[in-house]
Amino acid sequence: MMTPRRMRTHDPERNAAEYVSGEMGGRRVRRWFNAHLLECEDCWREVLLGRLGRRLATDIREVAPSSLRDRVRAVIAVESRDAVERPRRRGLRRGRRQ
Ligand SMILES: [Zn+2]
Repeated sequence: MMTPRRMRTHDPERNAAEYVSGEMGGRRVRRWFNAHLLECEDCWREVLLGRLGRRLATDIREVAPSSLRDRVRAVIAVESRDAVERPRRRGLRRGRRQ
């Protein structure tokens, strides 16, 4: 089967990731990949792994208790606040003083 021009470089991992996430561009490319999946064991395996990974990620998200979610949110809030403040503090120390 011919490979569409946009997909001359066959990369099962990347192609499957785009396919599973719905980011595979163009109807022709998607149609080609649908047919290609039936012939290419590498791509088929990558699509199965990609779907399994997405399902596991969804399951994990669903069973996380709300207390854990709150703790994760608190850590992210502190980390992102520090990430914003640290460079500014460093900038002041090194910055021009009168
Ligand atoms: Zn393939």
